[in-house]
Amino acid sequence: MTVTGVVRARPSGTNNTKIPTGEVEIGVKTLEVLNMADVLPFPVDDPEVAKNVNEELRLQYRYLDLRRPEMARNLRLRSKVATATRVYFDEQGFLEVETPTLFKSTPEGAREFLVPSRVHPGKFYALPQSPQQFKQILMVGGIEKYFQLARCYRDEDLRADRQPEFTQVDLEMSFIEREDIYLLIEGLLKRVWKTALGMDIPTPFKRISFEEALNRYGIDKPDTRYGMELMDFTEEFRKSTFKVFSGAIAAGGSVKALNAKGMADATQGQIETMPENAKSFGAKGLAYIKVENGEWKSPIVKFFNETEKAALIEKLKIEEGDLILFAADQWLNACEILGKIRIYCADILRTRGKLVIEPSRFDFLWVVDFPLLAFDKEQNRWYSSHHPFTAPVADDIQFLTSDPKKVRGQHYDIVVNGVELGGGSIRIHQPEVQKIVFEQVLQIPPDLVKARFGYMLEAFRYGAPPHGGIALGFDRLIAILCGTPSIRDVIAFPKTAKGADLMTDSPAGVEARQLRDLYLEVKIPKKE
Ligand code: ASP
Repeated sequence: MTVTGVVRARPSGTNNTKIPTGEVEIGVKTLEVLNMADVLPFPVDDPEVAKNVNEELRLQYRYLDLRRPEMARNLRLRSKVATATRVYFDEQGFLEVETPTLFKSTPEGAREFLVPSRVHPGKFYALPQSPQQFKQILMVGGIEKYFQLARCYRDEDLRADRQPEFTQVDLEMSFIEREDIYLLIEGLLKRVWKTALGMDIPTPFKRISFEEALNRYGIDKPDTRYGMELMDFTEEFRKSTFKVFSGAIAAGGSVKALNAKGMADATQGQIETMPENAKSFGAKGLAYIKVENGEWKSPIVKFFNETEKAALIEKLKIEEGDLILFAADQWLNACEILGKIRIYCADILRTRGKLVIEPSRFDFLWVVDFPLLAFDKEQNRWYSSHHPFTAPVADDIQFLTSDPKKVRGQHYDIVVNGVELGGGSIRIHQPEVQKIVFEQVLQIPPDLVKARFGYMLEAFRYGAPPHGGIALGFDRLIAILCGTPSIRDVIAFPKTAKGADLMTDSPAGVEARQLRDLYLEVKIPKKE
């Protein structure tokens, strides 16, 4: 509608203090209707009502959803942070370089989206999972400082808050060490937090090793805004008469415990539904102690002697009302089980108001000293804990083939409030080391290495500089700044958890002629 007229104060008594324009009105001279609007499928001007609108409906009518002030605010913040990021990197001497979206299949990590080539029958491009290889090649190309707000594509079975296409703040630099990346990213996040929230975040960020993170928090992206840390009781229970503990230790494992303060009133049902309990103790359930009315209520305390009990009291600071939870398994498993339980208990305590975390609190953390490799029991082979281009710590290169588990990687993750914001590494720049990692450590057959990565190994032969980089998940970053749990709220046109675009109704079928042009035939398995 176009209206011309004179803005004037409302006659007294007709003011509406609930709306920003409630004190003025227009004395209309001309009025033109530019377009008609149907009745909206849901209201867009009342945040309380809009909050309860089904998300599928919002996604189907995304153009209406985007009119909601909350969505407009999110997109504005996204745009401001993108600009601040570009300005920051420009000031630091970086070049924004676009890398191809039509790439080649190099199936190492997540599953890729394939794009059939019409011109080359039977051949395919793949959409990049990240610009990793191109950015490394840019370093060989002498670019020295590259960044990009890059689109990435991963054909994963979608988990709740993942998107098949997403954006990364991606960067790579030559002639650097890990410390250079820490400094650069701390500067970026300082700028971003100031731009988006007007907040000064203190730097440098704390650092924690992978091992310490697992030992204390049971996860490699710890939320350090609350305690409830895991304690180790492997030594104390080595000779225990409680066979679940001493047996696990004899098998090379660990016993860990945590104190969920004030949760002794948890029901049996709640304890049983605690994640992963079945995995840790088979049919035996999760071992626990409830401290109620001065008594330790637990099916297992009868196995504990006084020294063991004293050790528990001392290390876990046990008091009335506490709930102690145990895991006994191989070290990593025991840590991870309790790590999940720690988060689960913290969530319960937060909903009960017993754990209060300031919404304006941001605990940044670098997680460092990751092992370069992890072992896949099912496939009986080593795989990269980050990706195959991550450099081993120089002193550990000698153990690559003789003792792979000993090799530390030059990999780092940046974590805030228990969310992994990004990760990166110093890369291998020597072709012979990269070849050993591909062929001897990761056991990729030499012909496949040549087909997939031959061009990279060749590029590295022409004086590749030492280099490294990192990528931050841009959607996640914006979601954190907007205080929303869902990245769909900060993406203009997101897909559902099943990868569907409900507005355009995609993915969709194509015509037989299109398939013929691509020399493709589709065989859909019949539903049983
Ligand atoms: N390309 C890596 C990723 O997407 C990040 C990096 O190593 O720079 O996780």
